[in-house]
Amino acid sequence: MIVVLHVVAGAAVAHVASTRLHDRSQGGFRRPGLGLLAFACVAGLLSHGVLDGLKHGYPISAVPDIVLGTVLAVAWCSAVRPPLRLLFAAVIVAALLPDVIDHGLAMLRWKAGWDVAVNANHIFPWHWPEGSGSLHPGGNDPARSLDFGRNRAVSLANHIIVLLIAAGCVLTNPRVFRFAPDPIDARAA
Ligand SMILES: [Zn+2]
Repeated sequence: MIVVLHVVAGAAVAHVASTRLHDRSQGGFRRPGLGLLAFACVAGLLSHGVLDGLKHGYPISAVPDIVLGTVLAVAWCSAVRPPLRLLFAAVIVAALLPDVIDHGLAMLRWKAGWDVAVNANHIFPWHWPEGSGSLHPGGNDPARSLDFGRNRAVSLANHIIVLLIAAGCVLTNPRVFRFAPDPIDARAA
């Protein structure tokens, strides 16, 4: 899926993980321990596989997607309370890591038109032809063509499902944002 959605999925995992970090004594949240950080990063990395396994097209082309994803990641990390920034940054990076590892070189060569997304030699199974739900315009392959049958509708439905689940995860802990009321103040009020 597009980079932007992998950033959203990583941030969603971090929102859920940060529900373990409520702290009455230090302004609402404490820093994560190594165990939680590692577990959340593994969950973030695996979220990439769930998203890529779904049938999906690419609503944004590669370069604007990478730029927008980077801006979103930086904005999200700077919008959360300082003790949680490392958690959010690490999980978002973990959620992007499979693309960096499997597609990084191709991106550097500016072949990032996503036609290189399906390759049997990639490390992660969700980037193999058998595991990827990647769809592209043209052609007549039910498993690969965005234009075959109702694949566009399936892709749209899958994007909406991912966004709704991510929104649910964010809502488990919206007070991680600096502009949200402090959890301690809110309890005292
Ligand atoms: Zn991927």
